[in-house]
Amino acid sequence: MTRSAAAGKSRLATAKRVVVKIGSALLVEKSTGRVNRSWLESLAEDIARLRARGQEVVLVSSGAIALGRRQLGLAPGKLKLEESQAAAAVGQIRLAHAWKEVLEHHGFTVAQVLLTLGDTEQRRRYLNARNTLTALLRLGSIPVINENDTVATAEIRYGDNDRLAARVAQMVSADCLVLLSDVDGLYTADPTRVPGAQFIPEVPRITPEIEAMAAGSASDVGSGGMTTKVLAARIAVAAGCHMCVTAGRESNPLRRVESGARCTWFVADGSPVAARKQWIAGMLKPAGELRVDEGAARALQQGKSLLPAGILQVGGRFDRGDAVVVLDPAGREIARGLAAYSSLDAERMCGRQSRELEELLGYRGRDEMIHRDDLVLT
Ligand code: GLU
Repeated sequence: MTRSAAAGKSRLATAKRVVVKIGSALLVEKSTGRVNRSWLESLAEDIARLRARGQEVVLVSSGAIALGRRQLGLAPGKLKLEESQAAAAVGQIRLAHAWKEVLEHHGFTVAQVLLTLGDTEQRRRYLNARNTLTALLRLGSIPVINENDTVATAEIRYGDNDRLAARVAQMVSADCLVLLSDVDGLYTADPTRVPGAQFIPEVPRITPEIEAMAAGSASDVGSGGMTTKVLAARIAVAAGCHMCVTAGRESNPLRRVESGARCTWFVADGSPVAARKQWIAGMLKPAGELRVDEGAARALQQGKSLLPAGILQVGGRFDRGDAVVVLDPAGREIARGLAAYSSLDAERMCGRQSRELEELLGYRGRDEMIHRDDLVLT
């Protein structure tokens, strides 16, 4: 095994949370328009092996439109928007069912999650989806995610699941994203046209040259060519997540990556937690502030979450998911974080115990005002 293949193997084998994106061309048999069952079963075996090692797995699966169009008897060629939306509605049931069957066989619970662009681009909805996915993982299930194609029209859609998968990887703080594709990775030029085209096993940094190489490559199936894969890689590596593009057509595609199969790794240089904390610390304009007591200030220094009981005073107007500054009793900034409640709710929660919150607010939210994953000391 080459040095870069060995490094790749370890990125996949040691990741805590892995997102795998499965393209339509792999999952759906071209000749019949049906699920490629034996291949899917082999992938389920791979997933079971990851889980047996204690790794968490999130799947982003395409295939709804491809499966639905056959069922509806739609003619080959480009579909009208409403036809592809109808095909997605029919195909998504089949897709989810296929995943349920192959993964249940290994004793896993499958959860279907359909996302639209707004769920990853608007902070409140993003946090909501993040919490749901984290809860599903904590409860031991395997989320199977697709775009909600039935309601997503051109201007509000990702269109390709490569970028959706990268957003999901960022959202769940995954440390490894594998794009199972119909191409085995990135070349210096299109290998089908340029005889001397060289394969690139590892991309330590996404430069304009890398982008130009992607633009010159040919990947014909699905909406995601190499350019969208590089865009996805940008999102993933900025979130501290390594990303691998590999040809998934053969059986047991994840095992093949671990055995040194050809693939291109886009390498992240920080961890997902560090990337997220950097984002919280640097990029957000705080919308308010929370002054906390000595006990809470000490707890934060020890890496704990901020509980409502420790809050003395709320300043500014903020919504759930907005960035806020945390001040010590003397008014000095000690941390920044994402508020789990709005300023209106926070004012009512000041100094209260977490168990009193439901009665106070009329709904059951999070126990913490700022969860430690959403908090960075400054
Ligand atoms: N969401 C689409 C589907 O399930 C696929 C998008 C893509 O191919 O990337 O059919």
